[in-house]
Formats: sequence, C-alpha cells, structure tokens
Amino acid sequence: MYPTEIAARIDARHGVARASTLRMAGASARDIRRALVTGSIWKVRPGVYATPDVSADIVTAARHGGALCCASALAQLGVWVLDADAIHVAMGPHGRQREHAGCACIPHWDEGATGFGRVDIVRALVQLARCQGDEAFFAAFESAWHRGLLSRRDRLAVRARLDARQRRLVDAARSDSESGLESLLRIRLLRMGIVLRCQVRIRTVGRVDFVVGDRIILEVDGRENHDGESHRHRDLVRDANAAALGYRTLRFDYALVIHDWPRVERAIVGALRRRA
Ligand SMILES: [Zn+2]
Ligand SMILES: [Zn+2]
Repeated sequence: MYPTEIAARIDARHGVARASTLRMAGASARDIRRALVTGSIWKVRPGVYATPDVSADIVTAARHGGALCCASALAQLGVWVLDADAIHVAMGPHGRQREHAGCACIPHWDEGATGFGRVDIVRALVQLARCQGDEAFFAAFESAWHRGLLSRRDRLAVRARLDARQRRLVDAARSDSESGLESLLRIRLLRMGIVLRCQVRIRTVGRVDFVVGDRIILEVDGRENHDGESHRHRDLVRDANAAALGYRTLRFDYALVIHDWPRVERAIVGALRRRA
C-alpha cells in the first residue's frame, strides 16, 4: 500500500489510527515503515499513527487513549459550547487511560465504539448533557441545529438517549436561536415562568432577540459581535425607534449572562414589575 493511501485511510478516521486497523485494511508493516520515512504519517505512540495536519486535540485524546468527545468534539464541529477548556475523551465502557504529558483530560465511560478520532455529533451532545448539565446542553443543541448540523433523525436520536427531564429541553429547543447566549437567556426565563417571544420583527426597529411582557425588548450581544462605533450607532437608532413605539430595550452581553446572571434577572424582573 502506498504512503498516500495509508495517509488517506488515517484521514478518514479524523487523522489517527492504530497499526492493527491499517494492517486489516491491507497495509503491511513495511508499507507503514515507508509511510513513516516519507513523512506521510508520524508515530503518536507505538502502534498508533497520525497524519501531519491532524488536530492537536484529537492527538491529545489519542494519547489519553480515546476519541475526542463531548464539549471538545462539539467545539471542533463549530457548535457553541459554554466551556471547552479541557479535552473530553471517550474511552468506551472499558477503555484504558494512559499517562501523557500535560494531561488535563476529562474521560467519558459511555457505551459506544472505542477508538480514536472524534465521536459523532449525536453521541457528543448526549455526553454533554450528562457532563455539563441542562443549560450547556440546551445551548449546544440549539447551536448545532441552527448551523444545520442536526437532521431530524439526529435530534430524535439525541432525545431517545436522554432521561425524561432532559427530553423536555429537546422539546423546547428551536432552530432559529442565533447565539448560545440567546439560548441560555431563553431557557432561564422559561424556568422563571416568564413568557417571551423570540426573534420578533418590529416595524422601524427590525428584528429583536426577545420581547417580554408587551413592551420590553431584550437583546443579547454575543462575544462574536465586536462593538465598533457603527455597530453602536445602529443599536442606538434601533433603541430610539423602539422607544418611540413605547418599548424599553434592555441589552446584555456575554459577561453579564455568563458571570453576572442575578443582575440580568433583577433587571428583567424590575422592568416587568414597573410595566405591571
Ligand atoms: Zn464532557
Ligand atoms: Zn489526558
């Protein structure tokens, strides 16, 4: 088997594979040596090989003994995740953890295939629901859906693997939530029993994130929106137009929603009370 073919087979597994897998596909020990010498592949550890442009996170997971999973896999797929600092590794039910330099991995011992690479999005979401809880799961689920990464079949597969309580989160999820912050805000207000309308179009204002009560607008600015002057001016124009129609606009950013939620909650409850 040619070195390029061996590399292609490893790439098909997200960039890491065992020698035994390659041999099963028809590569001899000599073929693997030749691929190593030509630089088409490199050795992660004895019996485990990777391609040159494999992601660093997938290599770390392989060094630990499993596949990239949970929040780490979702972040790599472009899904909004609340906390993806650690490397989450799927070990399968009976995997063996290995020591490696700089290990800060979070192992997962769920049912499912063992091996390297990256788990599929359905398994990653189910792992996230167990690992990081309701809010993190809800925001990631909506983000994945919004980005077109979840088919109807995938959504049902995720739902089927959750407990009754977390299934309700899937049932409350929408496909039009444009940021994780928006998802977090919505699930928290729903829990507080505050009814809200999402992505509401208001004449002369445009589309706003949420309306609560009949005249309170809530806007959440994600960390991806860098506040340029023109951006700020546009927001002020929107707020002025909304005020002319009797709306009050409350704006929250990433730091407030994530690190200072009680302040956000007091602002919304206070505004609602004054309206009442
Ligand atoms: Zn996890
Ligand atoms: Zn590790």
